[in-house]
Amino acid sequence: MQKRKVAEYSFVMSMVFVLFLSPNINDSFAEGIREVPDLYKKANEHFMIGEYHEAIELYDKILEISPTNTKTSLMKGIALENLERHKASILEFYKVNQQEPKNITALIGLGIGFGNYGEYKQALKYFEQAYELSPENHVVKNYYDFAIKNEKKYLYNEAEKPEVFSLNIPETVPAWIKNTAGWWATDKIPDGEFVKSLQYLVENKIINVESSDNTIAGSSPQSIPAWIKNTAGWWATDKIPDGEFLKGIDFLISNNLLIVDLPDVQGLSEEEQKVNDRNQWEFSRYLDRIENIVNKDKRYIEFPNPSNDVIKKFMRDYVKWNYDQQIEIGNQGFPNPEYKLKDDVYYLEYKIYVNDQPAALPLDHVGTLVNSFKMWEDMEFTASDGKKVKINFVITKTKTDANLWVTWVVRPLGEGVLGHANLGKGVVEVALGGYGCDGNFQLYHVDTVEYIMTHELGHGIGLQHSEDPNSIMFPSMKNTQYAYCVLDVD
Ligand SMILES: [Zn+2]
Repeated sequence: MQKRKVAEYSFVMSMVFVLFLSPNINDSFAEGIREVPDLYKKANEHFMIGEYHEAIELYDKILEISPTNTKTSLMKGIALENLERHKASILEFYKVNQQEPKNITALIGLGIGFGNYGEYKQALKYFEQAYELSPENHVVKNYYDFAIKNEKKYLYNEAEKPEVFSLNIPETVPAWIKNTAGWWATDKIPDGEFVKSLQYLVENKIINVESSDNTIAGSSPQSIPAWIKNTAGWWATDKIPDGEFLKGIDFLISNNLLIVDLPDVQGLSEEEQKVNDRNQWEFSRYLDRIENIVNKDKRYIEFPNPSNDVIKKFMRDYVKWNYDQQIEIGNQGFPNPEYKLKDDVYYLEYKIYVNDQPAALPLDHVGTLVNSFKMWEDMEFTASDGKKVKINFVITKTKTDANLWVTWVVRPLGEGVLGHANLGKGVVEVALGGYGCDGNFQLYHVDTVEYIMTHELGHGIGLQHSEDPNSIMFPSMKNTQYAYCVLDVD
């Protein structure tokens, strides 16, 4: 068998990929518009290290130059949220929601805002809309699950909703368009007929085409990709929801794969602006009423994003989780795993002690351990004497006879460090979150934690790092995903 060295390995993030919403500038005549990209970049730099006050100051400058710059409003909304300025944050997201009812970031921001007040019914309405638009996104799903659970769990006095303010329920697509799509999918009508119905969707803002440069309406449309015909067919026969179909169409138009002659998208009319202002005023009073009730009733609130709660509770129980000392000692004192030689194959059995997950953590990491075990159990290794080695993991309830201790931590492991393990036996610890989403502590997506766990377990059974970037034993991980990162919903 391979001689075991006492060594400690860290798994690190190779790069922080933050997908910033790039600013979308509409009013190109405004003076100072050229400053915007630079201001935006600087603001985001502050934002990413948690300097939200500085970031907001710069976002405000941008919004003075370009008041309808929704991407900036969204960043400002998130920064305000991280400062726990719930009302200001909600109002910022509400403004975007008025302009773009299908903006998922704004919907999630609103849901979180209402959730932070313990207004779960209202939160659910927004999360539900986001979920209908983007059922595949794991962040959207996590918030939606939160709202479903808590709307039933907590009883509370709901604040009176304003008369003017009504929640934008996603407009349903008129039935005749569905018929048209069905006919088109079965070649009963030509492309042109179908494109006309899409034009209706855009004109009535059922589809919000944001990014496309629509001045090229004169040029000739390219042929419509075949897959969209399939999608239309599935939609017409109710195999996929409206949102799925609309997303496909939006993609085509935004990428100029489908050119729809669009009406000039003008700013708001005076009348529309008045209605919006009135709504904003009413909405703001509504939030005041909520704040009053929350204070008066001393409402117990479970926050939609559990990250902060988890880190607080973890710190309170720090001793229970504190493996610093054990990590320092290394794997000394841990028994070697037992093995049997049968038919020229070594069967190596690892006894594993699994620590509890930190309290208040709604994500299941103990459950995904099975996948990490299986990955290594399915593999075949070669011992130094040339014989094959198979690994088997067995859970044990006692620490003393365990070869490996598995634990999840939220303590800072070091800059970009995702986990630690001793080589061959000892402690395996995996970080539950980091600061790479928005400068605040945020829990990782379960898939990310599972990946780190599998890597660290690799060290635990004696594997060293691999130079192959595609190997799970490569020393760094490129794509760490967060479970509740609002910047990742779109
Ligand atoms: Zn490693």
